[in-house]
Amino acid sequence: MPAPDDALRRSGRAARPDGSVVAVGEDVPPVAFGGREVVLVAGPCAVESREQVERTARAVVAAGAALLRGGAFKGRTSPYAFPGLGAEGLDVLRDVGRALGVPVCSEVLDAEHVAAFRGKVDLLQVGARNMQNVSLLRACGRSGLPVLLKRGLAATVEEWLLAAEYVMSEGNERVILCERGIRTFEPSTRATLDLAGVVVARQRTHLPVIVDPSHAAGRRALVPALGRAALAAGADGLIVEVHPDPDRALSDGPQALTPEDFEGLVADCRAIGQALGRPVLARA
Ligand code: PEP
Ligand code: MN
Repeated sequence: MPAPDDALRRSGRAARPDGSVVAVGEDVPPVAFGGREVVLVAGPCAVESREQVERTARAVVAAGAALLRGGAFKGRTSPYAFPGLGAEGLDVLRDVGRALGVPVCSEVLDAEHVAAFRGKVDLLQVGARNMQNVSLLRACGRSGLPVLLKRGLAATVEEWLLAAEYVMSEGNERVILCERGIRTFEPSTRATLDLAGVVVARQRTHLPVIVDPSHAAGRRALVPALGRAALAAGADGLIVEVHPDPDRALSDGPQALTPEDFEGLVADCRAIGQALGRPVLARA
């Protein structure tokens, strides 16, 4: 049962029938999500080294990404998996993003870490496993930084929008939603990409909605098709994992595109964008 529309006081479509545009970029030219142009975000799952981020960033930006992603603090399923470089990883992202003139996005795991992200990243990512972490949502709402809110692995569209409402209720209107696949009975993909949920979200809220085909697919061979389908379904952008040497990646290697694969996906996005009247945003 959908909650009454007044539960979506700030995020509901009625608050801004024409949709909202969220600007991302503090010390670099800002990138607009939710406008006519679709935005491509790309980069490694995890920041592994300065060299790895530099190589990846140069390649994805040259190919057409407007924003760089990379996890510095990784909340892995296993406590024994690579946990990320932590604060050092944020410095790497900031340096590489500024050198290339693109904003950067990284996941924040804890409310206490939010302050440390200021001045380092341009977009705070709240991960699927944290979508209903109310204290983290509130801290992001008070951060003054835009927030990329991933949909939880088992969250309804309603719960996802109410999580956005938590951020907004702290005075932060700059929220971008991200569908990244939900858990179903289907084992042939890592998660089931819910494109219907993207359409529903775009009808119910004015916030931009982007899609992460990488975590939904779990395997690189599926990523381009899911990315293309997402744009055709009306997504305002994509966030894609790319690694220069996926077989050696410290996390999510099987779903990482190579820089060459990513170039191919960008070409597809440009063709789809042209058909839809929504070109891929070129870097400022
Ligand atoms: C990620 O973006 O690397 C990530 C962990 O995503 P999610 O929270 O969607 O699993
Ligand atoms: Mn990942």
